[in-house]
Amino acid sequence: MKDVSLYIHIPFCKNKCFYCDFPSFSGCDGKMLEYAKALGTEIDKIDKDYIIKTVFIGGGTPTYLSLDGLKYIKKSIEKLNLAPDVEFTVEGNPGTFTKEKLELFKSMGVNRLSIGLQAYQDNLLKNIGRIHSVEDFEKSYKLARECGYKNINIDLIFGLPNQDIDNWKETLKKVVKLNPEHLSCYSLIIEEDTKFYSLFENDKLKLPCEEDEREMYLKTLEILKENGYNHYEISNFCKPKKECRHNLVYWELKPYIGCGSSSHSYVDGRRYYNESDIEEYIKKINKNGSAIIESKKNRIEDDIEEYMFLGLRKIAGVNKKQFRLKFSKDIYEIYGEIINRFKGLKMINDDGEKIYLTEKGIEVSNSIMCEFILEK
Ligand code: SF4
Repeated sequence: MKDVSLYIHIPFCKNKCFYCDFPSFSGCDGKMLEYAKALGTEIDKIDKDYIIKTVFIGGGTPTYLSLDGLKYIKKSIEKLNLAPDVEFTVEGNPGTFTKEKLELFKSMGVNRLSIGLQAYQDNLLKNIGRIHSVEDFEKSYKLARECGYKNINIDLIFGLPNQDIDNWKETLKKVVKLNPEHLSCYSLIIEEDTKFYSLFENDKLKLPCEEDEREMYLKTLEILKENGYNHYEISNFCKPKKECRHNLVYWELKPYIGCGSSSHSYVDGRRYYNESDIEEYIKKINKNGSAIIESKKNRIEDDIEEYMFLGLRKIAGVNKKQFRLKFSKDIYEIYGEIINRFKGLKMINDDGEKIYLTEKGIEVSNSIMCEFILEK
C-alpha cells in the first residue's frame, strides 16, 4: 500500500476571467457529461493499492459542473481507497454553488471548500471579469457554513487594476470577519494569452505601482497575523493546523496522481501530463483509457532543484536533515555557494535546522529560486 494524493481537473467555467491563463474554458457546457464520464473512466484506473491521503478537485470551476456530471465522479471516487483522515477539497466560485451540490460533495467525503472571491468590491470584480458579486460570495459562503463545511479557504488577489491600498485593506478586513480557516493571497501576474495581456500591451491597464503592491503584501502579513493567521507559504495563510495538506504535497515533492484534461502527475519519480483539449481528452480516454501525452523520468538533479524551489516557498523552508535523507547529500555540498551568497545578502537564513527565505528574500523570491536550477 502506498500513499498518494489525487488531483482532479474540471476545465469548465461560466466565463473566462480576464487575468486567467489556467486550462479552463467557457462555452463548452455541452461537453460536461461526456467529460465527466471520461474522467470517471480515468479515475477507475487508479491502482487500488494506493491510499489516497488528499484529494483536490480543481479547475476551472468544479462547482459549475452539472449535478449529473458530479454524480459520475462520485461513483468513481467511491471505489477508491481514501485514507480515514483524508483532506478532500473542492474549488468553487460564488453563484455556482447550490445546496444540492454541496450536499452531494459531502456525501463524497468532501471536507474542505476553496472559494474564489478575489476582491470585496463589486467594481473591481467586474473589472477583472468575475461572474459574481460580493453579495453572491457572501450567500455562497453562508450556504457552505450552513451545510456544515468547517474548513474553508478563500482566494484573494492583490495588485488588481484600479485597486488601491485601502481597497485591499478593506478586502482583508472584511474577509477575516468571516473567519475562514485558510486564505490564499496572490499578487496579480499578467500572463500571456489573457485579455489583460493585450490590454497591458496597449497601455490600457491601470495597475498599482510596485511600491503600492509591496505595501499591499506587507499589509497582508500584518492584518492576517493580527487576526490569528499563520503565514506558512509565500501566498498562503491559515488558522492553527489548517494548512492545505494537498498543496504541501506539491511543495514537498511527494507523489500525486492527476486526472482530467491538462492534469499533471508525479509518481515514482516520473512526471506525466494529460492532453489539455477537452474533446481530445475525451477521445483519448474512450479509445485508450489514457490521455497521457508526455511522460519523463525526473533525473536526480530535477528532483533536487524542484525540492529546493518548491520547498523555499514554505515559510519554514527546507529542512536540512530531510534533504540529506532524501538525496543522501548535504545541502551545502550542492548549494553551499548560493546559500552563502544569499545569507550574506540577508535574503536566506540558516537556523541550524532549516534553510528559509527571510522577509527580504520573500520579496524577490522568484529571482532567488531561479538560482537553484542546476547545470545539466
Ligand atoms: S473562474 Fe478561475 S479558472 Fe475559471 S476563468 Fe476565472 S480564474 Fe480562471
